[in-house]
Amino acid sequence: MTGTVYKSTGSWYTVNTDLGASYQCRIKGKFRLKGIKSTNPIAVGDHVDFELETNNDVVTGVIHRIHDRTNYIIRKSVNLSKQTHIIASNIDQVFLLVTIDNPPTFTSFIDRFLVTAEAYSIKTVILFNKVDTYSNDTLDEVRFLAHVYRKIGYECIGISAETGKNVDQVKALMADKVSMFAGHSGVGKSTLINAIETNLDLKTKAISAQHQQGQHTTTFAEMFDLSFGAQIIDTPGIKGFGIVDMDKEEVGDYFPEFFKLKQDCKFNNCLHIEEPNCAVKNALDKDEVAYSRYKSYVQIIENDDENYRTDIWET
Ligand code: GDP
Ligand code: ZN
Repeated sequence: MTGTVYKSTGSWYTVNTDLGASYQCRIKGKFRLKGIKSTNPIAVGDHVDFELETNNDVVTGVIHRIHDRTNYIIRKSVNLSKQTHIIASNIDQVFLLVTIDNPPTFTSFIDRFLVTAEAYSIKTVILFNKVDTYSNDTLDEVRFLAHVYRKIGYECIGISAETGKNVDQVKALMADKVSMFAGHSGVGKSTLINAIETNLDLKTKAISAQHQQGQHTTTFAEMFDLSFGAQIIDTPGIKGFGIVDMDKEEVGDYFPEFFKLKQDCKFNNCLHIEEPNCAVKNALDKDEVAYSRYKSYVQIIENDDENYRTDIWET
């Protein structure tokens, strides 16, 4: 049988099939996955093959194969610094919620998030939330940012989770896909999820409240089916991505507009900082590359290596 992992609690996995059956499964033997040293062999979102077993009239499953992942997100294991923990896999898209004020979201945060999502090969859609509260000046700022990010390939939608404005557009994008929601605390993730589907009891709220009391919480991701044929992965305690382990030379590859220009730089290992005949800097001078994007890039590049290696999750 084949199914998808919806939840994992230690050594047991809840695996649901396309036909709507749900099985508690475990792993027999050892799994070795190419290239990943992780504390957990199987994560929420994994597609797995399993066989059924009956013990004392209780039917459970034994997983014997994991299908190749299209992507996965990880965090560093708290105790074993060299080990990673896979939080979720096979994510079709992440919706990054951004508010201009209350709370403010800075472009440096957006760009760090996007770099990481690119490195993970996860598509990002930017949702500018709370448009119902914005003055004309603030709406101009939303339009400007939407223009900056659309130009480099990110879909942007202005929404109000409170009034429901454009929430249908978000739902249309979610149909038949696995989605995640990210953004600072207070940007409206819970409100939006409630507007998308009522009666969905996500743990995000409770756990982040716990977080503020300084407790160390373990992240257990969980996948949920929505009524209109969409899935979401809830990741309690996680508000966004930080920067993953990457080399300086790699960072520019995750700025799509820089990556396109790179072939026109004089040096093929150009960092777009001080090198002569740099296509990125030329484009910046002509306003074809947004200054805020370049600034975020330089900030990431100029962080010393230690900062690349800090825990990738921000709260
Ligand atoms: P989360 O921390 O990202 O889950 O944010 P919440 O969903 O808890 O929202 C934080 C606050 O913003 C709550 O008081 C919401 O009622 C409010 N809020 C969320 N979305 C909107 C919106 O589109 N418009 C307005 N006016 N308020 C909103
Ligand atoms: Zn360059």
